[in-house]
Amino acid sequence: MGHVPAGPELFHAQANAALKDPQLRQNFRGAMDYLQDKRKNAFVDPVEEDKIRTLCESIRKRCLSKLPELLEQLDANCTRNGIQVHWAQNDKEANNIIANIAQSHKARTMIKGKSMVSEEIELNHEMAKLGIECLESDMGEYIVQLDGDKPSHIIMPAIHKNKQEVSDTFEKHLDDFTPTVDVDELIQTGRTRLRQKFHDADIGLSGVNFAVAETGTLCLVENEGNGRMCTTVPKVHIAITGIEKVVEFLSDVPPLYSALTRSATGQAITTYFNMISSPRKRGELDGPVEVHLVLLDNGRTQAYQDEEMRKTLQCIRCGACMNHCPVYTRIGGHAYGTVYPGPIGKIISPHLMGLDNTKELVTASSLCGACGEVCPVRIPIPEMLQRLRTEAKNPPKPDAMPMKGQASAASTLESLAMKGFAFAATNPNLYHRGAWSATKLRGLVPNNMGPWTQCRTSPKLANKTLHQLIKARNKQAGDK
Ligand code: SF4
Repeated sequence: MGHVPAGPELFHAQANAALKDPQLRQNFRGAMDYLQDKRKNAFVDPVEEDKIRTLCESIRKRCLSKLPELLEQLDANCTRNGIQVHWAQNDKEANNIIANIAQSHKARTMIKGKSMVSEEIELNHEMAKLGIECLESDMGEYIVQLDGDKPSHIIMPAIHKNKQEVSDTFEKHLDDFTPTVDVDELIQTGRTRLRQKFHDADIGLSGVNFAVAETGTLCLVENEGNGRMCTTVPKVHIAITGIEKVVEFLSDVPPLYSALTRSATGQAITTYFNMISSPRKRGELDGPVEVHLVLLDNGRTQAYQDEEMRKTLQCIRCGACMNHCPVYTRIGGHAYGTVYPGPIGKIISPHLMGLDNTKELVTASSLCGACGEVCPVRIPIPEMLQRLRTEAKNPPKPDAMPMKGQASAASTLESLAMKGFAFAATNPNLYHRGAWSATKLRGLVPNNMGPWTQCRTSPKLANKTLHQLIKARNKQAGDK
């Protein structure tokens, strides 16, 4: 059994536990260094990189600016193509829709391609309650599922494990497995076990990387071929995605695809790129006879209504921000206790789960800016984190729409202290006397200041105030 996170409210405890696990830290360090290098080599020309990021940002902004119309167009064009479209306000509705489809086919098994949205709605758990078994077919997800674990990265779910740990997992859960640390053999083992499952599954479920409104096409980016199997072998295919994944034109896809693969794994293209535009047509030999698309909101419209927060929805889920985040690379994904970890998780989870449940996460950043610098769609993550931190502390302005869980981190003591400081700082006499007294009493500053001094030395006040120093310098300059 791996690290099953309890939830974001235990972030500090989970982060501390991760920091004390040298194997986990080594696994992440190695994997993140590798991914950082891959990305760097994929964007060798900074001018070209800049152009790609600007283009992708403008595409995502344009598509989001027309989101309601594009969703309607997507619905109409998918329906015309024979894809059945469903709308879900939240996780419960999405699970009900999928359960109804499954039950109408008397389905007992579902084979899944990689889908973070299905993690978001806890699909496997909800289907298990109805006696429907969901089996992950992405190799990373398969390993994580065998372990009863959760993904720790949005594109590489089992990145927290090394070869030996994967071998141990297989040995524990698979019959007739001869332990090995040969990666090809490990992958072949997983593939062989999954082969029959594709054939036997009643339903195939996948995520969607881009949903094209112009043509009613669902695009799926993958490397293993399991996505293609999930969407063609079973008789019924269900695709589930957040409402933000819609793009306007088919021509919007190539630049976004290129930015996604280069930012994620440093690949120019992936091994597979699937475009699904209808169920099996008359005369076709394969493909599902029924295709469904479930469009999930789950807090996204809250982000959408605020022009600044809307930028969160530009995300194309490449994972580059987490690969470069000094916090994520040291503690890994499980510590966050959310489906989306790392920098993107810190700005999207408050919309999905409320700021009250995620207020610890928005403070878990050094604000170094690395995430914003590598984001292929230029989401200003550090600025958004600063805003979320403010909103976690302060109630909304009278005319503003409150964020779910806003002001849940408000502290009376902190608020009184800030009010006191504001009063002193706007009264020069009081400020000078206070600053003078603080310099005189600096010896009383304690060495132990709780969590602050756990990994830092205690701050020492200077023996002269800034005003005193400037006065002395000016005097010295005048004397010369
Ligand atoms: S926020 Fe940017 S860097 Fe992070 S996953 Fe989304 S697109 Fe990639």
